[in-house]
Amino acid sequence: MTIQGQCLCGTIRYEIRGPLISAEHCHCSMCRRFHGTAFSTYADFDPEHFQWLQGEDQLGIYEPNPGKGWAFCKTCASSLGMPGADGRLTSIALGTVDGDPGIRPTEHIFVGSKAAWYDITDDLPQHEERD
Ligand SMILES: [Zn+2]
Ligand SMILES: [Zn+2]
Repeated sequence: MTIQGQCLCGTIRYEIRGPLISAEHCHCSMCRRFHGTAFSTYADFDPEHFQWLQGEDQLGIYEPNPGKGWAFCKTCASSLGMPGADGRLTSIALGTVDGDPGIRPTEHIFVGSKAAWYDITDDLPQHEERD
């Protein structure tokens, strides 16, 4: 299967030639600030399956700690994903995928630092930190 996606302004486009492995809602305080939302939703994949289609030169990486960072479009500031230790993306911000990515989130992580103003109302497993 092939999944494509893009940032808000369309400068950056990517393709994942393979399945998304898992998806989760992350309630950590860093994702909350980065996205400006109650939580972020990411899907993980094999980095071998990922490629940029266009706009890679407009990709910014905010990496406050080694191995823990966020990729974004320098033009429109869309969150795009998380790079692994070698700099390659290992997860994609699910909201940037075109159409239905097929996968559904299966858990909430870092619920221990969840926004006080947001209540989780589904029955998915909740983990204080990472599972
Ligand atoms: Zn953009
Ligand atoms: Zn997070």
